Amino acid sequence: MNRQKSFENEMPTLYLVPTPIGNLNEMNPRAIEILNKVDVIACEDTRTSGSLLKHFDIRNRLIAYHNFNEESSANGILELLRDGKNIALISDAGYPLINDPGQKIVTLATSEGFNVVPVSGPSAFLNALVASGLVAQPFIFIGFLPQSHSDRVKKLKEYENYPMTMIFYEAPHRIEKCLKDCMEVFGDRKMTLARELTKMHEEFLRGTISEILDVVDELRGEMVIVMDGNHEDKTKAIDMNTIIEMVNASVENGMSTKDAVKDAAKKTGISKNRIYDAVNSNRN
Ligand code: SAM
Repeated sequence: MNRQKSFENEMPTLYLVPTPIGNLNEMNPRAIEILNKVDVIACEDTRTSGSLLKHFDIRNRLIAYHNFNEESSANGILELLRDGKNIALISDAGYPLINDPGQKIVTLATSEGFNVVPVSGPSAFLNALVASGLVAQPFIFIGFLPQSHSDRVKKLKEYENYPMTMIFYEAPHRIEKCLKDCMEVFGDRKMTLARELTKMHEEFLRGTISEILDVVDELRGEMVIVMDGNHEDKTKAIDMNTIIEMVNASVENGMSTKDAVKDAAKKTGISKNRIYDAVNSNRN
């Protein structure tokens, strides 16, 4: 067991310091104090963090902590801790470790008994979650999904039956494809898309996946997806036969199977995949 009394030990400290996700007024005074007093600040990008430090008139030594070579970066920081130096770890925005570098050094530093101390502050997923309008607890933070369609669908299927609210990060150029995949796997669930959090153009789009897909072309900036969990009443069996009849009736009325399944998914909230499977096995 490793028991740490953060303010009652002589060990060198690794501070985990969050930085603003947009609005610089959210830089916390304790964060500024720590960034001034540590021996070294480890960051993702010295230019990005250099501008932040300049804004707050913090003149301290910056070193790069590289995501692509986390192993050697972590070992470098470990050496500094062993030399008795206090270090602050920051990322470009928000919390280190949260879809940002830092995991390796925190694991190593805690296992060697160094003091690892978090400072409170912003992280995009928490802002998105609490204002989403969806149930805030329990939730699961997933972060970025795989980039390819097939890997993303595979990953989403792992979460298909999760009852808790899910949080994903996504880049604006992939948001449409990602939401289409969510629709395919989850059906037309409730969700909130939070964008440009804490910035001038902050916006929350609260609705269903299809409603947000209707306006997705207009959306720019940094985004968080907050997705409702699966609240299907497991005690109430879904009457798949009725859904199959619905699809067959639409097909008889001239609709393609693909559109009929899509329509049934929208009306029932059951995922397209499940309806396809049921329709196909009924036809075989
Ligand atoms: N460490 C950060 C944190 O604690 O939130 C996350 C860093 S991750 C590399 C960047 C992603 O976080 C973006 O692609 C976006 O999904 C989300 N993000 C960061 N800032 C945001 C903001 N102001 N508004 C909405 N999403 C944001």
